[in-house]
Amino acid sequence: MVTSVRGAAKHTIGVLDLQGDVAEHLDHLERLGIAAIRVKESSDLAHLAGLIIPGGESTCLARLLDIFGIKDCILHEFQRGLKLWGTCAGAILLAGKVVGEETFLPLIDIEIQRNAFGSQLDSFVSEALIPPVAQDPMPLTFIRAPKITRVGEGVDVLLRHDGYIAAAESPDVLVTVFHPELTPSLAFHRYFALKCGLTPSMEEEFPLIDSMWNSRSWTRYTRLGF
Ligand code: GLN
Repeated sequence: MVTSVRGAAKHTIGVLDLQGDVAEHLDHLERLGIAAIRVKESSDLAHLAGLIIPGGESTCLARLLDIFGIKDCILHEFQRGLKLWGTCAGAILLAGKVVGEETFLPLIDIEIQRNAFGSQLDSFVSEALIPPVAQDPMPLTFIRAPKITRVGEGVDVLLRHDGYIAAAESPDVLVTVFHPELTPSLAFHRYFALKCGLTPSMEEEFPLIDSMWNSRSWTRYTRLGF
């Protein structure tokens, strides 16, 4: 159920709705029975348990967050207990260090490198077992993704492969360089809801991984062997 801002309380997760894949995050939260709202301006941030900063383009998102005056409000609410999850571009915005670039909202001690797999055409799908998040392997979608190259003290690695880190968390911030919202898996949204102190549905609703990949998709399927 996507609720109105007026009805929002601390049981609600917001999805930053300036640019990027917003509807898919809202859909996943709705399937878990979690109240969710679109965050378009700073007043939408009041009374949220968590905020998802979606994938898209980090430079574009950073500009829009500044223009609409939302950046400072996120910082303010974070200091008051708001949990954050950055997917892909969102993870870049939250990183304490961005290789060769300015940081934006450095709220988790990670180093991240933008576009680290190459161009848009080097995007790919894969799967991995991430025991803290789910018992079964889950599908992963990397779209012109960054790599997390280092984590600092107090940050736990959730998924590491081939010299880089694909998912990590501190007590208050979750970062994934891939897009769980673009797969049928609800596991990461459930994990974030639990981190926010909410009670998501525990039922699994996605089809078997092997039956879900579209062979005509422009992303290639790469079995990384995580
Ligand atoms: N390449 C984008 C950036 O650097 C991130 C891509 C994404 O979010 N899928 O911001």
